[in-house]
Amino acid sequence: MSRFAYVNGRFVRHGQAAVHIEDRGYQLADGVYEVWAVFDGKLADAAGHFTRLWRSLDELQIAHPMSQAALTVVLREAVRRNKVRDGLVYLQVTRGVAPRDHAFPNPAVPPAVVVTAKSVDRAAAEAKAARGLSVVTVPENRWGRCDIKSIGLLPNALAKQAARQRGAVEAWFVDELGLVTEGASSNAWIVDSEGRLRTRDTQANILRGITRTSLMEVIAGEGLPITEQPFTVEEAKAAREAFITGAGTLVLPIVSIDGVAVGDGKPGPVATRLRALYIQRAKEAAI
Ligand code: PMP
Repeated sequence: MSRFAYVNGRFVRHGQAAVHIEDRGYQLADGVYEVWAVFDGKLADAAGHFTRLWRSLDELQIAHPMSQAALTVVLREAVRRNKVRDGLVYLQVTRGVAPRDHAFPNPAVPPAVVVTAKSVDRAAAEAKAARGLSVVTVPENRWGRCDIKSIGLLPNALAKQAARQRGAVEAWFVDELGLVTEGASSNAWIVDSEGRLRTRDTQANILRGITRTSLMEVIAGEGLPITEQPFTVEEAKAAREAFITGAGTLVLPIVSIDGVAVGDGKPGPVATRLRALYIQRAKEAAI
């Protein structure tokens, strides 16, 4: 199947899509990204991801490359051209192309925009979620602005690779106090030994997950007890349930942490139900 990518104003064949060697994203990781889940060809949690995109760009003083309406058209076109029914759309915006210099180009150059879209096999994803997956823990070694959805992802990539090599799907970063911060590409949750849903507060140095925020509305609607309080690795291992959230994984039960079974080693009832409720809500609200 031919695939297409959007690169700086036009759709090109995926195999031929390229950016300039002096794109500041390529040379300095000077850019940000967003990822939307796609259900039935429509963007899930659309507004939340746009809000975070504008915030990430503003924090780095990168100009908005286009309006939300225009960008929505581009994202939908990427979905359409790649025949994605269920999948993900990826957007990257960098500060642009300029002779290499650490300081920002002056005068500013237009930001560079890339969009790709890919299908995911939702049936296979549901089968995996029904079995539950594993995480491993790694020391928190990222920078102090993890709230910005920066493309500086080397520590995240190394952590994810360590997880893969240890047979796990995700790595959880652990800070110097022994508290879990978040996953390499997801937020971390437990149902603690008292039955409370627990995830780290966003005052900490973590990404404010859009799936996390949407799931909180689901949880409030269900009247389930929830607290935004960090947890240690020991508390997570002793928890009733564990799960991760993200546009890629949605709500995914975790049944093993560093090789230790969580609960009875099977996806728990709370995580399983929240996955179904989140997907239903995301589908209904997708645009
Ligand atoms: N934390 C990190 C470090 C991530 O990369 C992601 C996924 N992009 C998340 C959390 C989850 O965020 P979202 O729910 O917006 O996908």
